[in-house]
Amino acid sequence: MSVTDAIHELIPLLQRAHTLGTIADLLGWDEQVNLPPGAAEGRGNQQAILAAVQHAAASEPRIGALLAGLESAAGALPVEQAAVAKQARRDYDHATKLPADFVREKAVQDSRGYHAWARARAASDFAGYAPVLEKNLEFARREAAYLGHASAPYDYMLDKFDPGLTTATVDRLFGELKRELVPLVRAITASPVAARAREVGERLRGYPIEAQRAFLREVTAQLGFDYERGRIDVALHPFCSGAGNDVRMTTRYNVDQPLDALFSSIHETGHGLYEQGIPVAHLGTALGMHAGMAVHESQSRLWENQVARSRGFWRHFEPRWRERFPSQTAGVSSEDLYLAINAVEPTLIRVDADEVTYNLHIVLRFEMEKKLFAGELAVRDLPAAWREASRELVGLEPANDREGVLQDVHWSGGAFGYFPSYCIGNMMAAQLWQRLRALRPNLEEDFARGDFGWLLRWLRENIHVHGRRISGLELIQRATGEALSPQPLVRYLRERYGTLYRA
Ligand code: ZN
Repeated sequence: MSVTDAIHELIPLLQRAHTLGTIADLLGWDEQVNLPPGAAEGRGNQQAILAAVQHAAASEPRIGALLAGLESAAGALPVEQAAVAKQARRDYDHATKLPADFVREKAVQDSRGYHAWARARAASDFAGYAPVLEKNLEFARREAAYLGHASAPYDYMLDKFDPGLTTATVDRLFGELKRELVPLVRAITASPVAARAREVGERLRGYPIEAQRAFLREVTAQLGFDYERGRIDVALHPFCSGAGNDVRMTTRYNVDQPLDALFSSIHETGHGLYEQGIPVAHLGTALGMHAGMAVHESQSRLWENQVARSRGFWRHFEPRWRERFPSQTAGVSSEDLYLAINAVEPTLIRVDADEVTYNLHIVLRFEMEKKLFAGELAVRDLPAAWREASRELVGLEPANDREGVLQDVHWSGGAFGYFPSYCIGNMMAAQLWQRLRALRPNLEEDFARGDFGWLLRWLRENIHVHGRRISGLELIQRATGEALSPQPLVRYLRERYGTLYRA
């Protein structure tokens, strides 16, 4: 069988498994947006049956046979087909190398873990949760071993979310970032401007939801989100799912926090624009798949932060904002509004953090995960280690474990190695921003005219259209001409926030 014939037989099999996955995603979206409470159990049943069908499609033996043939002819494969085969191997191994018993046990453990975490968090009782966490770590190590990574389980966890990312790389990038960011945050928060930003933020109250909805719809459409190929709805937690011609975003509204729905929608729009820019014809293969969680996050953060918190952006949108909310904005000056949009305040809780301090929350979690996997930190010592790291990095010490080690859901479901993507994504966004401004020094003038077309086209051509042909780190290196570094992020934060806070 020729290499071309093998690829032509392989692709429909991959796309079938992918399409089944998209149906599961749609059920998940519906569960969070529309599901009547009484239908929850029935939905669980639908999802379990679909997951079994999807797993059978992804572990179809013919895929394995075709891959073996392609791998024996590896040198003869054109670059694109080699990328397709490589990703298919990752997915196939993941579907077939984990014993059925292990998958079943882990599903039970993940669900149990979630409920144990929710109980422990409510009672701020880490001791009751520690055995669950120990078990989750053991499951993670076993999974890594089944996939051939027994000697470096944390590398395996990182690579799962961001192909090619290693502990050593993250360690180096975060170490450098930490040294520069901690003093910058201290200087900003000591500035009298910080208190003013907080005070203005608290004055933004009574913004009717219908007007918020209309405004954010106007903004996200103008940024380039195609509402013919996607939609936005309300859910408890904002997220973005789907790809290509059917992208589903969600947000949530609070009349007294109008910036929250706006910025979380712009964040999800960044994810949505990426998914809408991935070549539809290739969905289900490496050519039609995002390059990893960090690159995904770089897209959401770039639009949310570098773009939508800029002065140029608000030169265009501020008059429109005032038009929609005339009485609410009457006593708020332009400078006050800009300050509220760029408020910085250290907090114990990651999800409440601003874009400057957020990174330190991630560094903290990475340091904990790294030590847990290296056996340098025992689960029972985690709360004390967390408190110490929080004091050192964020400058605040949690009074209890609910505000500390118990605040995030991720570990309860075994999602170790996921956190670093958020901060790596911020670094990537800042490095892309640096490159964009070198290419087009007056980029913010585009924004001031309400024109985001040049920016979106550049991202389409340099990031979106490439799918997963190469790793996220390589993709950013190609797009920016430099290896990923924390320096552009430090420079950007210093330029925007150091100036604003006179720090
Ligand atoms: Zn995101």
